[in-house]
Amino acid sequence: MRVLLALALAAALASETQIPERDLAIAAALRDQALAGSSAYALAESLVREVGHRLAGSDNDARGVEWALRTMERLGFDRVWTEPVEYPVWSREREEAEVLAPEPLPLAIAALGGSVPTPPEGLIGEIVAFADFAELRAAAQGSLKGKIAFVTRRMERARDGSGYGPVVAARVAGASVAAEKGAIAFLMRSAGTRDSDRPHTGNLRYGESITRIPAAALANAHADRLQALLAEGPVTVRLRIAARERGLYQGANVIGELSGRMQPEEVVALGAHLDSWDLGEGAIDDAAGVGIVLAAAELIAKQPERPRRSIRVVLFAAEEIGLYGARAYAERHREAVARHVLVGESDFGGGRIYQLDAAVKPEARAAIAQMHKVLEPLGIALGREDAGGGPDFGPLRRLGAAAVDLRQDGTYYFDYHHTVDDTLDKLVPGDLDQNVAAWAALAWLAANAEGDFGSGSLPERAGPPMIQEARPAPP
Ligand SMILES: [Zn+2]
Repeated sequence: MRVLLALALAAALASETQIPERDLAIAAALRDQALAGSSAYALAESLVREVGHRLAGSDNDARGVEWALRTMERLGFDRVWTEPVEYPVWSREREEAEVLAPEPLPLAIAALGGSVPTPPEGLIGEIVAFADFAELRAAAQGSLKGKIAFVTRRMERARDGSGYGPVVAARVAGASVAAEKGAIAFLMRSAGTRDSDRPHTGNLRYGESITRIPAAALANAHADRLQALLAEGPVTVRLRIAARERGLYQGANVIGELSGRMQPEEVVALGAHLDSWDLGEGAIDDAAGVGIVLAAAELIAKQPERPRRSIRVVLFAAEEIGLYGARAYAERHREAVARHVLVGESDFGGGRIYQLDAAVKPEARAAIAQMHKVLEPLGIALGREDAGGGPDFGPLRRLGAAAVDLRQDGTYYFDYHHTVDDTLDKLVPGDLDQNVAAWAALAWLAANAEGDFGSGSLPERAGPPMIQEARPAPP
């Protein structure tokens, strides 16, 4: 009896994914090395200074791809390549708004990404305010004829960024819903947490066969002023937006790989996105993530030997305008989901990581606990038994890839996100180093684990990712 029990126990343990002691020690050393100073900030600075913003399809988009290729070569990746991604090009040319009545008052706005222009002379309409997107959706058909819809809901500040989801739905679909009711334009309070005069842009999506109306976000301080006027009586606003659609563009995901010494066809994939909005420098979103994952891979590249499996860094194209690079990657690697042993993206600014979430098979939970022990000294807690893998690995996650989220403190992220204030000075080198420490250790551990994390056999993920960006319907 005792023998049988021991055999059963041995069999169960054999199917459990485990990380060898030796690799736990190497990962702890990588962690401490990163904490002592990594190249993450210098990499983010280099991207921002040498390229600037990286709006999808702009001249800077191609310069960003060249930067990524030469940087990966320099950092010691064994293999560096691009994979093509096609997406539409939109450019912002001018945007202005002013209250005409009851009294003249300029309003700072940012056109939402993808917005159609107004006529050159602008549009004039009376404002109809809605407390939130649900209230706009509930408005009667035709009730907004000739009017400008304005959704006033304020974004709540939260460490985990959970205030974003409830306001971003209006940004994505508000213009289409307002147009359905007869509106001539759509305005919203910025999806941002700072009471400033800097508006926050972000993507919108027009519904099929619905009139496309211009759409913009108001700076929070100016949304306050507009609401104060509306409390007194009717308000008329003039809106002028010049923006252009310029057809399809051929961009690229940029990929670098450290080839595994034993199972090179199996990869641990770290991601970030190379593109950004055009208003600032795209420093927190997402030069920070680019710097973090590249610096983590660089530390591993300098080890005396390669890990058992490959470690891949994927710098995605065109995330902001609708996850084009993400969907192209998942489509291209659809048959290789099981060989993506574990995936995760850094795309939440430069704040410190406070929690490790993981979507893995039950037999790999013990290995996640082993990983957590290495990350714990960084102030990282073990969190949920689920993870989305970040926006750009979302499509691969939904195909059944095992994924981690290293959740960052986003308390101040949405003060600057998608604004002219998304600049390098918002990044704190020591905080980036803490991120690098976690990613480097985690990547080493996953790449050397004995056993897998369930990729390919995990149930498709239900529910939305933590941060839901605008996502066009699948083709
Ligand atoms: Zn981002």
